[in-house]
Amino acid sequence: MGDQYPEIIQEGVENTCLSNLYESLDYDPVENSIYEKELIDRTKWKTIYIGMVRWFVMFSIGVLTGLIACLIDYGVTSAAGFKFYQIKHYFNICNRHNCLGITFLIWIAFNAGFSALGSIATVIFAPVASGSGIPQIKCFLNGVKVPKVVRLKTLVVKVFGVVCAVAGGLAVGKEGPMIHSGAVVAAGISQGRSSSLRFDLNVFEFFRTDTEKRDFVSGGAAAGVAAAFGAPVGGVLFSLEEGASFWNQALTWKIFFCSMMSTFTLNIVRSYIKQHPWELTYPGLINFGKFTFNYYSGQELVIFILMGVVGGLLGSLFNSINHRLTIFRQKYIKTKVCQVLETILVSVITAALSFLIIYYNQNCLPMKEAPAQYNMQFYCADGEYSSTATIILQTPEEMVKSLFHEETTSFKRETLLFICLCYFIMSLWTYGLLIPSGLFIPCFLIGGAWGRLVGLFMRYIFPDMKLADPGKYALIGAAAMLGGVVRMTISLTVIIIEATANISYGLPIMLTIIMAKWVGDCFNEGIYDIHIHLGGVPLLGWQPSDLASSLNANEVMSHPVTVLQRVEQVGRVMDILLHESHNGFPVVDNYDPYAPMHMRNPDESNTFGTYRGMILRTQLLVLLKMKAFNEREDLFHTIRNLHNKDFREEYPRFQPIHKINISSNERKMHIDLTSFMNPGAYTVSDCATYSRIFRLFRALGLRHVTVINAEHQVCGIVTRKDLARFANL
Ligand code: ATP
Repeated sequence: MGDQYPEIIQEGVENTCLSNLYESLDYDPVENSIYEKELIDRTKWKTIYIGMVRWFVMFSIGVLTGLIACLIDYGVTSAAGFKFYQIKHYFNICNRHNCLGITFLIWIAFNAGFSALGSIATVIFAPVASGSGIPQIKCFLNGVKVPKVVRLKTLVVKVFGVVCAVAGGLAVGKEGPMIHSGAVVAAGISQGRSSSLRFDLNVFEFFRTDTEKRDFVSGGAAAGVAAAFGAPVGGVLFSLEEGASFWNQALTWKIFFCSMMSTFTLNIVRSYIKQHPWELTYPGLINFGKFTFNYYSGQELVIFILMGVVGGLLGSLFNSINHRLTIFRQKYIKTKVCQVLETILVSVITAALSFLIIYYNQNCLPMKEAPAQYNMQFYCADGEYSSTATIILQTPEEMVKSLFHEETTSFKRETLLFICLCYFIMSLWTYGLLIPSGLFIPCFLIGGAWGRLVGLFMRYIFPDMKLADPGKYALIGAAAMLGGVVRMTISLTVIIIEATANISYGLPIMLTIIMAKWVGDCFNEGIYDIHIHLGGVPLLGWQPSDLASSLNANEVMSHPVTVLQRVEQVGRVMDILLHESHNGFPVVDNYDPYAPMHMRNPDESNTFGTYRGMILRTQLLVLLKMKAFNEREDLFHTIRNLHNKDFREEYPRFQPIHKINISSNERKMHIDLTSFMNPGAYTVSDCATYSRIFRLFRALGLRHVTVINAEHQVCGIVTRKDLARFANL
């Protein structure tokens, strides 16, 4: 990076810190000679067979994701149900015997125990399973390989961890992690084998490429959304919003099918669990229930828009504090013990705050109005129950439903304010802990609480305004808050509409979410993008930044370039792979790698041979492992008749170079790259603009682009990281 950029660009580049942990995925298929041969040899029936298998895989992903959602639901209901039953039991006993302290200690012990279990599993076995997983899946669909993100171990920890997190009383939901779970299921099933379990079913071999895997992962992510919210269309739109660059019509249809299968499976299994077989009224892990008010007045739209503004402001405040907190964590909370202890501390404080809300705000109501299963009398008179205790001693999902549907009297204003404040603080502290956690439900809780307050306020100033139903305002507040934090637009709107099963709220929800996004974007990015950037992930956004658009290929590319000749010495290939970490190499003619720079023709001293194609490190590793060498340089054929299948066989864990044995005799042999390089790989001219290269990468999911001059000579190479350096200017 030279001094040639204007100061403002230089400063932006220096502030962008990219991690070496991340590599790119190869979404551009390698269309070389052996690939072409495979296509020519493929019969019509084989093509039809592959098409049908693709549908079958999508079906399996949907069904399995639905089953995992059932498992999570069952786990959370059992674990949290047990905990709340015990706490309520002790509350009732201790009311009479004045031993509330013991109840409090039991509550704390449950919370600490569950969250410690979840956190220890995450920290030890799969740190990548922490959080909602949405940022990681977003990166995957964008073309970034996040290590271990779609492994089986990650899925197991995710499921176990999220059950522990919810049962441990943390301000989290189980819905976000479903998206990650669906993606892992998709990546696993579509490969027909598991490296962790060391089995290979020898099926779906033709899907062992990054491009195919990505398509299935988008199906899995959509199935996760569908199972979480009973929102199959929202699921499709989520995958579309996060990875639209590779979208096509056929894929949309398959992903929709996958989402439908997921919600349908969940629906059937839950209908059996609830002992109403085939009564298909349980499409998602959370369902917002039936709203009594499904109309609003024109004037209320203005209030909804204002609520969107508040959502945007609160969302950006939430993101800004969480941003600082994450930086603090990265600096000071590094050891595994500290990470687990922090999680336990948060769960204990959450219990303490909940206890305080119940203790100071009982809100006694006559027993006949009791809505929940276990009513808590607490310190209320006989024949009454504590509405606050009954509401607080539930899972966060049930609390959200209470905010949307409870009677007006069930929540006092102070209770709502307290819930809003506590959950705001606790969920922004919780997001980023090393434990699986979803952000949707905490945001619904915060927004639902202040939205309900707005509803109560409206009732207070306009007592005759019958439309001001607090539940309706709670829903709009929830949408505003979530929109302000995550900044998703179309998918979020449709997810909420589907979870509400009420199209009349479509317009208010859409207006609120758009306002929240616009206002929030004035201050900072969405929470997922903040975490992606803090992790140093080279994610490419939707558009190139305006400032960077003034640059061109010469200023962005890397130079000098490590290139390979078409017929290359095995020893040189070995040395390059051993000493350089690059994953792609332009293949050239007319280039002598051993000629010193000053000895070259002055016209060619800045170029590296005539461009012929591109070859990937993984291909070279397979060639070396298979010993596809020739004795002599002029023997232009490969000794082994290699097929495309041989390369897919190794996918995705290729043998590292230091484990490949090459004798000193073999080092002198030659390797002919002509049939294996991608002769049609994308190139750009040295005067192409940054925005043109960016669009090429973003739209086609590229990994490397070679920069060539008018004479077709290689002058540089551009990768995703080169572009990402300028992405946040
Ligand atoms: P990725 O990690 O995205 O899969 P990569 O490992 O090939 O691809 P990067 O890690 O993105 O490449 O590259 C780091 C730097 O090395 C970038 O500035 C890039 O331009 C440069 N680079 C990549 N390939 C080559 C090459 N063959 N010769 C010289 N420089 C290269």
